[in-house]
Amino acid sequence: MDMQPETAAAPGVRFKMIGSTAVLHIDNPPVNAGSHAVRAGLAEGIARATRQGATAAVLIGAGRCFVAGSDLREFGKPLAPPDLPQVIRLIEEAPFPVVAALHGVALGGGFELALGCDYRLAAPGTQVGLPEVGLGFVPGAGGTQRLPRLAGVARAIELICSAARIPVDVAQEDGLIDRIVTGDLLEGALAFLAEAPQPKRRALDLTPPAEAPERIEAAATRALRRGKGRPNVAEAIRLVRASAGQDAAAALAEERAVFQRLRLAEDAVALRHLFFAERRAATVDGLDMAQARRISRVGVVGGGTMGQGIARAFLAAGLPVVLVERDQASLDRAMAGLAAHLDKAVAKGRLSANEAAGRRAALTGALEERALAGCDLGIEAVFEDMAVKQQVLARMEAALPPQAVLATNTSYLDIDEMGAALTDPQRLLGLHFFSPADVMPLLEVVRAQATSDVALATGLRLARDLGKQPVVARVAEGFVGNRIYAAYRRRAELLVLDGASPEQVDAAATDFGFAMGPFAVADLSGLDIAWAMRKRQAPQRDPQARYVAIPDQLCEAGRLGRKTGAGWYDYPDGAPMPSSEVAAMIGAARQEAGIAPKVPDAATIQRQLLAAIVNEAALLLDEGVAQRPSDVDVALTNGYGFPRWRGGPLHWAAAQQEAAVAADQDALRQAVGHGFCVGPVARVLDQIRTEQKG
Ligand code: NAD
Repeated sequence: MDMQPETAAAPGVRFKMIGSTAVLHIDNPPVNAGSHAVRAGLAEGIARATRQGATAAVLIGAGRCFVAGSDLREFGKPLAPPDLPQVIRLIEEAPFPVVAALHGVALGGGFELALGCDYRLAAPGTQVGLPEVGLGFVPGAGGTQRLPRLAGVARAIELICSAARIPVDVAQEDGLIDRIVTGDLLEGALAFLAEAPQPKRRALDLTPPAEAPERIEAAATRALRRGKGRPNVAEAIRLVRASAGQDAAAALAEERAVFQRLRLAEDAVALRHLFFAERRAATVDGLDMAQARRISRVGVVGGGTMGQGIARAFLAAGLPVVLVERDQASLDRAMAGLAAHLDKAVAKGRLSANEAAGRRAALTGALEERALAGCDLGIEAVFEDMAVKQQVLARMEAALPPQAVLATNTSYLDIDEMGAALTDPQRLLGLHFFSPADVMPLLEVVRAQATSDVALATGLRLARDLGKQPVVARVAEGFVGNRIYAAYRRRAELLVLDGASPEQVDAAATDFGFAMGPFAVADLSGLDIAWAMRKRQAPQRDPQARYVAIPDQLCEAGRLGRKTGAGWYDYPDGAPMPSSEVAAMIGAARQEAGIAPKVPDAATIQRQLLAAIVNEAALLLDEGVAQRPSDVDVALTNGYGFPRWRGGPLHWAAAQQEAAVAADQDALRQAVGHGFCVGPVARVLDQIRTEQKG
């Protein structure tokens, strides 16, 4: 076959002719993000193929994928021409068929580019999807018009609004992929073109397949519910529905206009901030990740709520687990719990019987730490008690190979003190999972004073392997997340003591966008854990500091939360209802403290809850507990139900008027009173604003 040497069409795309087929290699490492250079290169490549009389063109990605998405760094500013719709128009108007040959991922603008081609071939293992709605905007290069024409309106609503990535076999069933190519992808694409004349076949010329209107209606209702009322979800649905109309050009123009407006709107700015913040949170400046140890077998000591969840997380990631409990009865309970969980997943269709059998076979139970001899990571999740943890860790250290990494899942205890009981405290770090550990995305990776770079890098690598979002913290009571949450909860309780009802505070929090209010959360997780901690801390309590005794009284009355059928709320039919018993307790507490209750409005409640979070975040940044402000945003959105579309508490605060933030902090100081620590809020927010400008 006649082959020309490869030349750059423009930076970002390489061009060569193979016979009469133009091959455009998209080459923009590491993930071929659709940058300006790539768009310009594609436009030039198509023009050149036309000039050279090509009979077909193949678009293919160099390196590990086709195109992982548009380059989000360009999204905060005007997009330089040619824009992606212009590139796709050139492809559609080219006098020859254009084949997209996909591998790795084809996401967002990358998948829209593929949808604009005449044919889509893909290697096994490819994933495709349109993640734009998850980033606060809508697809802007024809995704809302071409996808429904190929897959149907209902399915397009589902795919676009869920921002899901789907595997290639599913995409083929949906009509989005023409052929799965095994073997060399480019050769497969050339063979496809050589097999038979492949006519132009624009998705835009198709009409969406006929569908029952109820199916579309149901998909739209589901998407709106899942989309929590965000405006871009409703817009995406409206645009997809317009694909059933005749005027494709007008629908495309409307899509672009909505895209241009939403990509610069608050939600998209916030979600873009989180996109970059999450990637940054997984890094530590100057840390060489190459020293991370490869983990192939994990020992978990303690098989309670957390130990079981942690074991499930490792098993799901394909890592064999040895689970150690203190006695046979506890071990039996833990193993039975894990088995029941697998059975349930199979019964619900979330896991195949085969996969479940594999996970069962990868799990071993044991009664002594000696069983950890073959593990390269040992993590303890035993009772939250320093002496118990020190003993367990010392036995784990003796049993594990000398290279192995040791971790504790402690929520509050001092990891430096735990390390003092070890021969080599350098191998110890905190891996603070959230409950349920196999579901919650956040993982705090805690760097104790002695923790080695190897252990830290291993923890960060492990987070990635488990599909978790790491946030690095230094040792401090409650690390990043729980420490901030404690300040938030304390402010919520003071709001109640001073006049609000628990349901008013919860409603204000959920109106702000929190998944749940603080009192509903307390009822769900159980009031007894914090009660035990308060009792432990009672001797050190500052007698002059304001103390809200209501949660103690709830516990004394047996109201431990949902698990006892009552907490801050009653649960007559499972749903929370305001409780007259609790209202009476609150009234008595106010009277005892001589408080004339004043009911704050919802906006004041929200601003005070946020002020507590922001003040505590500023304190722990000042102390170096968190690495950077954006890590706080990542922790709160991934572990505490803070609304993602607000970008996290510090991103939110940096966008507020400075005077308003200062007034909120002052009101917070007055409400908390004696013992309040003023965080350097203005300085932290200044730092964020400076970074935003740069
Ligand atoms: P749990 O009481 O449910 O489980 C503790 C388990 O450890 C029990 O099954 C117990 O039998 C076992 N155990 C105790 N001593 C042992 C020993 N010497 N050897 C082996 N096993 C032993 O507690 P949990 O909620 O799973 O919490 C465990 C740890 O995780 C604590 O440090 C806690 O602070 C932390 N944590 C808890 C949560 C949560 O939401 N529950 C979240 C994050 C972290």
